[in-house]
Amino acid sequence: MRGQHLIFSQSFRAKYSASFYIKGLSRVFGCRHGSRKKPFLQRWRQLRSGIAALGLLLSWLPAVLQAQRAELEKFVRQKVLDNGLEVIVAENHGVPIATIEIDVRNGSFTQPPGYEGLAHMYEHMFFKANAQLSRPDEFIDRASELGAIFNGTTQEERVNYYLSLPSDSLEGGLRLIAGALREPKFLREELDRERLVVLGEYDRNEASPFFELDKRTTQALYPGQWSRKNVIGERQVLQTVTPDKMREIQRKYYVPNNAALIVTGDVDADRVFELAEHVFGDWKRGSDPFIADPIPPITPMTGSSALFVEQDVGAITVFIRWQGPSVRADPEATFSADVFSDALNQPGSTLQRRLVDSGLWHSVGVNYYTLNNAGPITISGQTSPDRFKAALSALYREIEQFADPGYITREQLDASKAERAVSTAFGFDRPSDFAHTIGFWWSVASLDYYMRYIDSMARRTQEDMRKYARDYILGKPYVVGVLMPADVRRQLGLTEADLLARVTP
Ligand SMILES: [Zn+2]
Repeated sequence: MRGQHLIFSQSFRAKYSASFYIKGLSRVFGCRHGSRKKPFLQRWRQLRSGIAALGLLLSWLPAVLQAQRAELEKFVRQKVLDNGLEVIVAENHGVPIATIEIDVRNGSFTQPPGYEGLAHMYEHMFFKANAQLSRPDEFIDRASELGAIFNGTTQEERVNYYLSLPSDSLEGGLRLIAGALREPKFLREELDRERLVVLGEYDRNEASPFFELDKRTTQALYPGQWSRKNVIGERQVLQTVTPDKMREIQRKYYVPNNAALIVTGDVDADRVFELAEHVFGDWKRGSDPFIADPIPPITPMTGSSALFVEQDVGAITVFIRWQGPSVRADPEATFSADVFSDALNQPGSTLQRRLVDSGLWHSVGVNYYTLNNAGPITISGQTSPDRFKAALSALYREIEQFADPGYITREQLDASKAERAVSTAFGFDRPSDFAHTIGFWWSVASLDYYMRYIDSMARRTQEDMRKYARDYILGKPYVVGVLMPADVRRQLGLTEADLLARVTP
């Protein structure tokens, strides 16, 4: 993954900023549905800079790495209702607030052509009229009566909906979210209105120079399967969406056996299980959506490719991307991927010294975004026109050495593990973030994956780093995309072939 906190905290504006792309990639469409959003990203960055001293991290290491699983099992409890709904509760009595979250295994990965962007459109319709609250905007009124703030996000492989509210409103909150989940009305007039909101979101995304770079490199990375990675969707699909298409998505994916209810904060787990039974127990199980309509496996790339996106930008941005591991097929590689990325991103790593400290690149970042359908590995970097050619060759030379012994030192490995462990431990203390974190992992992998995350990271060795590089990067097909102004490209006389490494797979 990328920092699990960051996954959930891309504010809309941060999402397509350069620093976002350098630090980590995941397409989160965090929408505004009438309640305010907290600047989680900012808070996380502050926290992170406060714990930057490596010595401090390392001194914490033994305590923090002491079995995350044992630590989590003290306060995370799980129960599966007869209809298949997984209920996960994490008690934290620090403040009298509860977060109620629903996660559904839906997202762009379920979208065949013709459905691009509809998982996200559905998310917008969630907060509209339902059988319990049948007037438009009645949901919002009821939420404010309860003192709740609410929102939803859509990604490739998860959609979530959440409310944070005073803990004595827990039952009301559960009933509110259950009504929206179980009996939406998809009123035509509300769909028409929300379509404009979503198209507005599309326009704002498209205005970023990184939108096109991300889109085109993703299209090349997943040949023929763009619809399944296209979270924001296609304008024409959004323009012609009907209530029937929403109902079709509901029927297939919005069933208890494809959802999780996560409650965190100042709650009693037994009471939550009891209420969950009352409120969700008679929700009828559906057929397994992934048996009824299997997700086609990701098509491998047949060769490497290169592309330019010409726009009037200052710095040149480069993306090199590979198809990374799929979390359920190769979980060990996903743990390695996270340690590997962190180790290379550390100031003072071989990669940073040779590429950034040398002045060739302004910045270089390595990322793996954990998904069940071949999450992308991305190396992104920014440089200037006069250094571009030297910078790109130097980057390829580094990539060739990724599996060399000692490329990642033992110390760098330990520091990466420590930083992940500490950042994860901090996450436990923020119940609303923690609900999103658990929900993401439940959806993409499983609760168990999350429970053993830090413990598995802690076992990574230098050999695991080399294996990951060999299995997923070295000699594997990749796509390279470069964002630069057209006149700079002309002056440098660049063709697509110039972007590929000398020795191409
Ligand atoms: Zn949205």
